[in-house]
Amino acid sequence: MSSPTLDRVLDAVFRVSSSFDVKFLSEPGQRWLSPDSSSSPPANFLQLVHAEDVERFSHTCSASPDDFACDVRIMKRGVDCWVNVRGYRLGGAEQYVLCLIDISAWKGNDSVYRHAAEHDELTGLANRAYFKKTVEERLRSDKGPFAIALLDLDGFKKVNDTFGHAMGDAVLIETAKRLNRIVGPQDVFARLGGDEFVLLMGGSDLAAAQVTAKNILLAVARPYDTAPHNAYLGVSIGVAQFPEHGSEYAVLLKNADTAMYHSKNGGKNRISVFAQEEAQADFSIQAAIHRGIQEGEFYLEFQPQFDVERRLIGAEALMRWNSRDFGRVSPDKFIPIVEDSGLMPFLGTWALRYACHQLRHIQTLLPGFVMSVNVSPLQFGADGFDRHVLAAILECGVDPTTVILEITESTLMHSQERTERALATLRERGLRFSIDDFGTGFSSLAYLTRLPVSSIKIDKAFIRAIEHHSLASGTDKKLVTAMIDLAHSIDLKVVAEGVETEDQLTFLKQSGCNQIQGYLLGKPMSAEKLQCLIGEVAGVPT
Ligand code: C2E
Ligand code: CA
Ligand code: CA
Repeated sequence: MSSPTLDRVLDAVFRVSSSFDVKFLSEPGQRWLSPDSSSSPPANFLQLVHAEDVERFSHTCSASPDDFACDVRIMKRGVDCWVNVRGYRLGGAEQYVLCLIDISAWKGNDSVYRHAAEHDELTGLANRAYFKKTVEERLRSDKGPFAIALLDLDGFKKVNDTFGHAMGDAVLIETAKRLNRIVGPQDVFARLGGDEFVLLMGGSDLAAAQVTAKNILLAVARPYDTAPHNAYLGVSIGVAQFPEHGSEYAVLLKNADTAMYHSKNGGKNRISVFAQEEAQADFSIQAAIHRGIQEGEFYLEFQPQFDVERRLIGAEALMRWNSRDFGRVSPDKFIPIVEDSGLMPFLGTWALRYACHQLRHIQTLLPGFVMSVNVSPLQFGADGFDRHVLAAILECGVDPTTVILEITESTLMHSQERTERALATLRERGLRFSIDDFGTGFSSLAYLTRLPVSSIKIDKAFIRAIEHHSLASGTDKKLVTAMIDLAHSIDLKVVAEGVETEDQLTFLKQSGCNQIQGYLLGKPMSAEKLQCLIGEVAGVPT
């Protein structure tokens, strides 16, 4: 906490309890607050905050408890002083680290000019001038190594050209927000202009800088729902390090830029570290996925599904990736990238085959057990999708009527003739289809009756809203009941996912819901654990 880097950049660092009782105040912070070393720090951080700002501060904190930022006035040496407070929740402990920067100079009478001169109006980030000043100060202060990462969004121009500048601006603001959550308290993050951002990584060695850069790749890879069609973007990153790659601001920035172009030319959406020689280190998610597939980093977990009497009847196969480079990556993050890189048909068929192998084994313990497998819209569009599915099922020797393919509404909404033919062929062979995340999309009856669907899965957002004591619960419950009635009226079964409480289960049972999936009855688990669970149910040793 009292590292020289942090103390140099920040005016004060507090560690406080969840009710803001002060547990620690950095030494420079004590001096900054009060020159009189005999006076002790305040018992509670809120005592420092101006009475008119306390409510706004508490609200900001509770609205975003993991990390938040807020400008408030605090009492310093008897006078009001504007500070920027950035709060970070400490994992495990119910405590926060609060990092304070004195911004009173910006907030004074002529503050507006200074703030405008140093900040980017659109995103609120620091601008080029401020970034340059900070790096130069850092170089003068001789405080050891640091790294600069230059980021340039991939695919931004397309969003701007297709959807207009307002949408482009929304994407830039959203990017700034996502990246702000990644940068550490000793980092400085700025927008250079257009879709170019730059990051000064304060206390980092090269390895730490690469970890941050990889997190940036993952953060930008998530779909942007700010754009009307869930735009996918990427980011090309170039890293240069002081002192190895330069000892002046201009040189460091130029070298980070060269490395960034290396990323662009190497296929975009990747990180390159500046190197004088040809051999530059490249890390891209796509490359990691390719390698991950070859090296068996992908696997499946299985979440059990029950009827409303809590009898185990099936499971949903959920894909997992434990990457050598990125660690555990959630499917919400990696599936869009796999889809984007054209690997989804391949990985999807692999998942189906793997799930069917497990299913065959499970059915020797519990006949009639049903396996649900997620299918991406992109798999349907691929050539020979139905043939691949049938081949995988036949190869494993399982009964096709015990396999359910989970598809999203968008698969059906944008369905082409080819999709409908594939659905019909598979249905003829006995497979069933379930509409995943029901209620979040168009939820039109038209396609439900036209296509061979046998069940819907009510999205967990609706299940979460079923709370006995919540004010909104009346409407939410009606919505869930309406979905169940609608599905039953056209002979579809209903699965509720994300069921976490007994209250939710009771309500769903009363409303006629057919099946239950959720943490209350079982979390996603390994194939071995699932087999043990089935062994217990079936009374068979596994
Ligand atoms: P999904 O198909 O809606 O899967 C259900 C998600 O809800 C899973 O997240 C599951 O772990 C989570 N979940 C289950 N019960 C509860 C609960 O009680 N509370 C809460 N909060 N969450 C619960 P997961 O495994 O992270 O998967 C996320 C999404 O990734 C899936 O959403 C699916 O869209 C996609 N996905 C996963 N595996 C595959 C796959 O093999 N192929 C394709 N195309 N997509 C997949
Ligand atoms: Ca699913
Ligand atoms: Ca779902």
